[in-house]
Amino acid sequence: MKKIYMDYSATTPVKQEVLDAMMPYFTENFGNASSIHAFGQDAKRALESARSTIAKTMGTTPETVYFTAGGSESDNWALKGVMRANKAKGNHLITTTFEHHGILHTCKALEKEGFEVTYLEVDAQGRISLEALEAAITEKTVMISIMFINNEIGTMQDIKSIGEIARKHKVIFHTDAVQAYGNVHIDVEALKIDLMSISSHKIYGPKGVGALYIRKGIKIQNLIEGGAQERNRRAGTENIAGIMGFAKAAELADANLEEHIERLSALRDRLAKGIIESVDYSRYNGHPTERHPGNVSVCFEFIEGEALLLSLNAKGIAGSSGSACTSGSLDPSHVLLAIGLPHEIAHGSLRLSIGDFTTEEDVDYAIEAIKEVVHKLRMMSPLYDRVLGGK
Ligand SMILES: *Cc1c(COP(=O)(O)O)cnc(C)c1O
Repeated sequence: MKKIYMDYSATTPVKQEVLDAMMPYFTENFGNASSIHAFGQDAKRALESARSTIAKTMGTTPETVYFTAGGSESDNWALKGVMRANKAKGNHLITTTFEHHGILHTCKALEKEGFEVTYLEVDAQGRISLEALEAAITEKTVMISIMFINNEIGTMQDIKSIGEIARKHKVIFHTDAVQAYGNVHIDVEALKIDLMSISSHKIYGPKGVGALYIRKGIKIQNLIEGGAQERNRRAGTENIAGIMGFAKAAELADANLEEHIERLSALRDRLAKGIIESVDYSRYNGHPTERHPGNVSVCFEFIEGEALLLSLNAKGIAGSSGSACTSGSLDPSHVLLAIGLPHEIAHGSLRLSIGDFTTEEDVDYAIEAIKEVVHKLRMMSPLYDRVLGGK
């Protein structure tokens, strides 16, 4: 049977070159980067070369890059670290209603600590209003955290304008760029980003590794206390093999970025067009142009998302109903509700996210499979029958 993976926004396979780059660091080069001896120094050199590689891909210098255990830790650190360190300035944080749970749940935790959070709404295409952002800033505002690209509907924000507004009002700007990094050009200086979360396993690297970019001069508390690793800011013996894999994945992504974006967006558009044109009562979610090159998010009326996913899985297609983090819950995704979809439509959602190993043949197969499955499920739906009189 066919096995077509269309869930690259949940995670990606590790590329062979990435695995090859990691392997020596499990066995012969296993040293602890904090050790004085040759084993330790070899590990330390590897660590610092990885840091330089990652720094270059985002237009910054190595001393601003801190390795973490992934996107979630980077999000937690950025928000808790900055808010707790800047209490003298204020207690207010601005974010959006449709962030990843790594941000939203951290905001909830900060509210319990007494911080105040403003959640900006997004429009039907998933973008915030820059006027509303500027209007939400008060003298107590310490930080703005707005994601670069949404993981469910693929919408990209106008990060440059957000950065400018933040800088103008002397507010710290963090962005969760886990979906954007490796999929669009990012220059943290040009975009006026102060902190940025990235993760390895979304760009064909290993799981459990990520980084937080922290611009020089930003006041931030530690999240993980202990040893003096990461220049005293993030304790824990460095995961050298994982970090080397992350750096290789970042280097590959950076070297092939143009080609990756061009190839992927053509496949994405073919997939989206194919679905929308062959299935009645379907809609394409997110922004028509400012979006992730590999994200196709659609909603089908009179369809229950879980049933759709299971039927597609039976045809060998691995998709998602929203984000991997929300499956298992029966509530519709907070992102789809945030863009104003009614519950019954948000329930019939499908996110297909494609990547470097997706072919045109996969896309065409998926379009046919979706057409068939949606038709079959609707034939069994009493609601469809009633509304359309069995058209
Ligand atoms: C996957 C993801 C995360 C979490 O990253 P992990 O490395 O899995 O912890 C955070 N934010 C966004 C937008 C993501 O897509």
